[in-house]
Amino acid sequence: MTFSALGLSAEIVRAVSERGYTEPTPIQAQAIPVILKGGDLMGGAQTGTGKTAGFTLPLLQRLMTKPVTGKAPIRALVLTPTRELAAQVEESVREYGKYLPLRSMMMFGGVNINPQIKQLHGRVDILVATPGRLLDHLQQKTVDLSRVEILVLDEADRMLDMGFIRDIKRVLAVLPKQRQNLLFSATFSDEIKSLADGLLTNPALIEVARRNQANELIEQRVYPVDRERKRALLTHLIKEHNWFQVLVFTRTKHGANNLAEYLNKDGITAMAIHGNKSQAARTRALAEFKSGKLQVLCATDIAARGIDISELPHVVNYELPNVAEDYVHRIGRTGRAGSEGEASSLVCIDEKKLLHDIERLIKREIPVVQVPGFEPDPRIKAEPILNGQNRGQGGHGQGRGQPRSGHSGQPRTGGAPRTGAGGGKPAGGHGAGRGAAPVLHRSGGRGR
Ligand code: AMP
Repeated sequence: MTFSALGLSAEIVRAVSERGYTEPTPIQAQAIPVILKGGDLMGGAQTGTGKTAGFTLPLLQRLMTKPVTGKAPIRALVLTPTRELAAQVEESVREYGKYLPLRSMMMFGGVNINPQIKQLHGRVDILVATPGRLLDHLQQKTVDLSRVEILVLDEADRMLDMGFIRDIKRVLAVLPKQRQNLLFSATFSDEIKSLADGLLTNPALIEVARRNQANELIEQRVYPVDRERKRALLTHLIKEHNWFQVLVFTRTKHGANNLAEYLNKDGITAMAIHGNKSQAARTRALAEFKSGKLQVLCATDIAARGIDISELPHVVNYELPNVAEDYVHRIGRTGRAGSEGEASSLVCIDEKKLLHDIERLIKREIPVVQVPGFEPDPRIKAEPILNGQNRGQGGHGQGRGQPRSGHSGQPRTGGAPRTGAGGGKPAGGHGAGRGAAPVLHRSGGRGR
């Protein structure tokens, strides 16, 4: 299968092959023809499947086959949950559309609104936006969405998790009734289904398997360790194996900050990336991480969600996620596009149940590696994880080289709630388009 066989124009195929893609991924092979025909689509696909090109390429082509005259209005609107994802999608639009006379713009909050207003005065064919800032523009009447022909909701489940449903509905209310709607979501919860019901007309339903299900390229390991010694073990692993480009997941923003600080003190360059950081700081952290200047990026689930770094060699679960599905999202950051990756989980006694849930979800036992000198102390008792961080990473744990003494007897802090408003997404909410599934094509992930 080639991109031109899918019906894409020479300009688009040229841009795609310059990007180095030889073959469409399964989601691309299925979604592109549907979108080109003008139908609505519900895509069950997470980041890493090639879904961005899956909707961007046909979207560009649709706009090209129906050119407008006069001042070009905004004709395509892509909504994304995070600024990073907005930036990445817009970059893809620009890249794949580089031989086409179309203009795109990204729009998100946390930055000055005035340059955006100025840009909106010029030509914008495709707008990639996060819902909050778009709503600001709508309220200020600085954006006109009355001629949008194609709407894309990217990572709709995350948008709902992050509490954007009302913002999305307000945006939908100002769009023309006649339009093409594309909704992408990694999970199909009831909430997503009801959003889709109100939005999509006779949608094709395309689902690709979660990447890890068949992805043998990700080597997963569990490192048992006491909660107070996780930092020391992480430093040990990074130094011992000379790991670079390590994406480390913590449960909370606070945990990400503290861990980054600790690693820096220990001579490992690290930065935290999460929603409390300014856009400039996030962009800088990401750029330095991509270039290899920054060895470790500490991230929460939400912050990491939009990061598109291909061939990321190491993902570390400093703490296991509360929701087993998030484990799958996390390790999906590694071993992308056919390259090998390692996903290491530092697991303390408190996390036994979380590990069990994960193993049940992925239907396999993760091999255990015991690092000598870091054997868990059998006298340490499990403590409940109180919807927040473990004490061991929360800034008041002891650092490297501490005696293996177990817990210090301090009361546990409640910590911050799970990152991302509304956090507690039920596990197992994804799957084969449960419930109404008009047309269901299935395929096995990237097939590579
Ligand atoms: P996405 O799921 O859109 O975030 O894409 C995941 C990664 O796969 C990105 O780094 C893309 O650049 C890459 N990618 C997308 N389509 C293809 C393709 N057809 N062949 C190889 N890599 C691709």
